[in-house]
Amino acid sequence: MSKIIILGAGAAPGVPSLSYGWGDCNPENPKNVRSRTSVYYDFDGTHILIDTSPDLRLQLLNNNIKHLDGVLYTHKHADHLHGIDDLREINRIMLKNINIYAQADTITGIRERFSYMLTQPDHINNVIRRPSLIPNQIEWGKTFIVKNVSIIPFELSGHNAISTGYILNGGEIVHISDFKFISEESLSLIKRRPKLLIIPLTTPFGQPFHAGLDEVLKYIEKINPEHAIINHMAAECDYDAINAKTPDNVEAAYDNMIFETKD
Ligand SMILES: [Zn+2]
Repeated sequence: MSKIIILGAGAAPGVPSLSYGWGDCNPENPKNVRSRTSVYYDFDGTHILIDTSPDLRLQLLNNNIKHLDGVLYTHKHADHLHGIDDLREINRIMLKNINIYAQADTITGIRERFSYMLTQPDHINNVIRRPSLIPNQIEWGKTFIVKNVSIIPFELSGHNAISTGYILNGGEIVHISDFKFISEESLSLIKRRPKLLIIPLTTPFGQPFHAGLDEVLKYIEKINPEHAIINHMAAECDYDAINAKTPDNVEAAYDNMIFETKD
């Protein structure tokens, strides 16, 4: 059994946002309060985090997350990356390095902005002063392992940063991040029907660098998961309105949403 927690269901500005307020979201519905994006996975005791939201501190506290076997990055945009410094608290608890995994362009972004926290496998930083992270560069289409969980990264296209999706735990779960379209080559890496697909929306009508709801539903139909969760929503996406426009096996995400797969 795998457990998934949507730590943050929001796009970059969060909901409500300073400039746009609640937008089209019903302020009476607590599921519309969204922090920025991170997703936590527990694969039978292997703990994996995807992306480090700028809201990571409260997300880890709220869900009592104190152990991570690896952190995967989808791309270098701030809303997915800039909570990275909060990983120091996990270093302090575990008293060891954390392995982080990302494609070359994302690793370069992390090195440029956060070089002070990167280290070597045989060295641990002083975790009172700074985080201690080991960078691991991954390649699209090449399987890598975190503890005992197999992961295949794949290319997502059309976003304004190079973006990576992940096929997790032998295909049980597919995690898609910011994208405009996905190539047939990338889709062909998904070999079985996933139990869960996580896919981002941003706004229902789409944007130059983000797919809209029609495109997202088209990819859900193509990948054909048992369940799908629509994540990464801005203030244009009201929880009930999105659910009303999607099939029964597709649900809008909300902060601290828990999903468990059955064996
Ligand atoms: Zn984003």
